[in-house]
Amino acid sequence: MVDTHCHLYDEAFDADRQQAIQRAVEAGVSLMLLPGIDSSSHDRQEALARQYPSLFRQMMGLHPTSVTESYQSELGLIQQKLFSPDAHYVGVGEIGLDLYWDKTFYEQQCEVLKTQMRWARQLDLPVCLHVRKAYNELFGLLRDLNFGTYKGVMHCFGGSVQQAHKAVEMGFHLGIGGVVTFKNATMAEVVASVPLQSLLLETDAPYLAPVPYRGKRNESAYILVIAEKIAALKGVSIAEVDEVTSASATVLFGL
Ligand SMILES: [Zn+2]
Repeated sequence: MVDTHCHLYDEAFDADRQQAIQRAVEAGVSLMLLPGIDSSSHDRQEALARQYPSLFRQMMGLHPTSVTESYQSELGLIQQKLFSPDAHYVGVGEIGLDLYWDKTFYEQQCEVLKTQMRWARQLDLPVCLHVRKAYNELFGLLRDLNFGTYKGVMHCFGGSVQQAHKAVEMGFHLGIGGVVTFKNATMAEVVASVPLQSLLLETDAPYLAPVPYRGKRNESAYILVIAEKIAALKGVSIAEVDEVTSASATVLFGL
């Protein structure tokens, strides 16, 4: 399986990172994608990817909650990294809109997202979108960008069934994580009604651990619980979920 979104470079893993990676491999994870956040974690992200070159691939982008007063210098750094001659990124992310935590920099979030979406297009890389309490705003912004079709994933998808179908029609994949195991009728309906080919597995570790680990630190090994839940909702085997989602991740991110 491919964990298309995890932050194993996070300090939450400082005490047992190697064991957490080992557990992921034992659970059947063959590759883990590391999204960028901002300059406070770039070095740790790069170091982890270098330490285990066969297990990790990196993305780079400025996270919407990191869009603050200093966003221009942060964005400059992302541009430098993405366009560097030895860039080794498989996607631009995580980028997006977050109106859950703070709306102060909403205008700037939009600007930063549009800029990074244009870079992704120039580089022919998929985007990894983080959207929280902002799906309508996101669709409005995509309409303004008017790219036609899109290449990327709406990570930790949390929109409605209608928004899920709209995203898939535009070419997006939906990243499905621990939330699918919560008592949440909408997510179950989303997973049941969207083609398996449009879904990707992700944990978002250390965040959003699936049931029965809910509230604890999440890790990539728990991806098995998510695959099981998707298999049950779609009435297919776990092996089929693994095969189809891994193939989609491989094509989308050029793995
Ligand atoms: Zn994330």
